[in-house]
Amino acid sequence: MISFLDLKRVNSTHDAGIRVAIARVIESGWYIVGDEVQAFEEEFAAYCGVRHCIGVANGLDALHLILRAYDIGDGHEVIVPSNTFIATWLAVSHAGALPVPVDPDERTHNIDPAKVEQAITSRTRAIMPVHLYGQCAAMTALKDIAQRHGLRLIEDAAQAHGAQLHGQRAGSLGDAAGFSFYPGKNLGALGDGGAITTNDDALAERLRVLRNYGSKVKYHHEVAGVNSRLDEMQAAILRCKLPHLDAENAARARVALRYLERLQNLPLILPQVMDGAQPVWHLMVVTTKRRAHLQQALTVAGIGHQVHYPIACHRQGAYSAQTWPNLPLAERLQHEVISLPMAPYLSNADVDAVVDVVRSAMQ
Ligand SMILES: *Cc1c(COP(=O)(O)O)cnc(C)c1O
Repeated sequence: MISFLDLKRVNSTHDAGIRVAIARVIESGWYIVGDEVQAFEEEFAAYCGVRHCIGVANGLDALHLILRAYDIGDGHEVIVPSNTFIATWLAVSHAGALPVPVDPDERTHNIDPAKVEQAITSRTRAIMPVHLYGQCAAMTALKDIAQRHGLRLIEDAAQAHGAQLHGQRAGSLGDAAGFSFYPGKNLGALGDGGAITTNDDALAERLRVLRNYGSKVKYHHEVAGVNSRLDEMQAAILRCKLPHLDAENAARARVALRYLERLQNLPLILPQVMDGAQPVWHLMVVTTKRRAHLQQALTVAGIGHQVHYPIACHRQGAYSAQTWPNLPLAERLQHEVISLPMAPYLSNADVDAVVDVVRSAMQ
């Protein structure tokens, strides 16, 4: 039995530290946006290599509030990947703008810059690439496009805590970035949490107001903000886990490398790492036309697996009222991708056990 992701096991490594962190918050008598949140914001900003971090309630809010703080909404378009978790699209929709999907690069499943330019109209205000599965999108090309067209570049970094591109961290590669600390992410809380990172001083100030009922001074509300705050408990837990993130990401990279070495020469498309990219392997996604067969073999062998994502965003009920451009890659990937177990605690023997099942199923 190898589970897809055992969160109890992930967090057991930090057990003592987490208990100390929780006790400290209980003792403090202060539970929402206090010293722990402020300290975490400083520590995570430093980790990402940016000036500001603003803690919020979750990753969806992080992305949605960036758009609102940039006054992107009604009548505007935001370019998003066709192949992503629905939160990327919903962030745009909740801001009142229209998500304009663009198909991915087949090698990385990340948004294809060559197709982005064709999707730009006079209403486009931003491009929101996702660092899918933990590998940074093609930010150099995207930055060039954004600059030439006067667009904001907003990273959905929810799967990419610690990922690097040419030595720079996710979260520092665009105008602003949204992170999620959902328990299953590479840096996960024990509940919901999220953050925005940015070097834009004015944006950071607007976000601090927006997340807290539009209020800078208690009971004075300058704008119609929201309640989207990171709580002290989650911040304290994240502070305990952040110093170990690089080691955990390195362990994931060891697991990924072993998969890549041992799954060669099969009718299976393996993930490709682009030049200059250092992925953090949030997910290990392989592609096959015989997915149902592979799923069955893994299930029979007691090996966890998932599909990210089984229904493309434009095919979801939530988006069925609109008409969408042709998205042949998103259409195909929803039927062909499958995610193998990926976690920092997986041993070489665990990986080999998964590999054996995959090899015998696909041969
Ligand atoms: C997890 C995730 C989000 C949203 O995070 P929540 O904290 O669950 O709101 C956004 N985008 C991507 C790509 C994600 O994987």
